[in-house]
Amino acid sequence: MSATIHSLNADRNNQVDKSKRDGGPNRRETLKIAAGALLPTLVPNLAAGQSARTKIVLLGTTGGPPLTVMRAAPSNAVLVGGALYVIDCGNGVARQIVQAGLRLSALKSIFITHQHSDHNLDYGNLFYLAWYAGLHGQVNSYGPPPLAEMTKKFFELNAFDIDIRIRDEGRHDPRQLLVPHEIMSAGIVMQDDNVKVTCALADHPPLPVALSYRFDTADRSVVFSGDTRKTDALINLAKGADVFVCEAQYLPGIEEVLQRAVKAGYDKDIADSLLRSISGNALTVEQAGEVAQAAGVKTLVLTHFVPGNGAVPEQVFVEEARKAFSGEIIAGRDLLEI
Ligand SMILES: [Zn+2]
Repeated sequence: MSATIHSLNADRNNQVDKSKRDGGPNRRETLKIAAGALLPTLVPNLAAGQSARTKIVLLGTTGGPPLTVMRAAPSNAVLVGGALYVIDCGNGVARQIVQAGLRLSALKSIFITHQHSDHNLDYGNLFYLAWYAGLHGQVNSYGPPPLAEMTKKFFELNAFDIDIRIRDEGRHDPRQLLVPHEIMSAGIVMQDDNVKVTCALADHPPLPVALSYRFDTADRSVVFSGDTRKTDALINLAKGADVFVCEAQYLPGIEEVLQRAVKAGYDKDIADSLLRSISGNALTVEQAGEVAQAAGVKTLVLTHFVPGNGAVPEQVFVEEARKAFSGEIIAGRDLLEI
């Protein structure tokens, strides 16, 4: 089973710079990825001399659009074979990468779990800042629609600045380097020398498509839940994983925070519908533990904390997850390396 990948490379190349079309990404790239979907499910081999340890870094661990001092917006990094793979691009992701001591110019691929702003707000900005930091190679991005349209519009929004920098600073055109691939079904997303990435369809109403990703490298397996209700698809994707990075929402805490906000003048109707949406469309932290247990993962890493402002102690989240999960539980923090 392979993921449905729609690459709009050819269209984009027509729009961007006809003179460079032959040198840019084209349909062949798409075909290569499609062919990759047919490969046997082998984990990649590491070249001699490369560090054997795949690094997982939590870049931002709150959930939802509200800014908090304590935690940055949702994002994670996988570093393997010197290449940087970023999962979700919440506000401030590029700065978090720098804070983590990782090189922006090592960016190789971007994976968006779903098109909610707390997960995608800095998608274009991450790529732009990596380009500015010296990125030269192609970056592939993967995620649900309208990823291609978002990519195109990002470059339109920033065309004035980009054109000036190309002329004034002699930089190469970044519009040739970012290639979006829209994913609409479960299966293998991509495979290269470092990693094989597969996805499952998440259930995150009202979004038509949301994804969970699994990364298999030569030495580790890690699954990122994204935002989702509890599903068998997620349990199957996470089966036997070393690390399961899962969203964690604590409903009594959310209720309390909203009640306090309403008392302080926040609109009650909006608060009520927010609570309905959060409680019906995403995993509670106890369910995160249930999924981890059913999948038999070694380590459950809690992230996407809601509330993410410290109103509920981390220990409460861990105890909730512990009700169902007997393995190791880590309460995620920004910049924590696992
Ligand atoms: Zn969401």
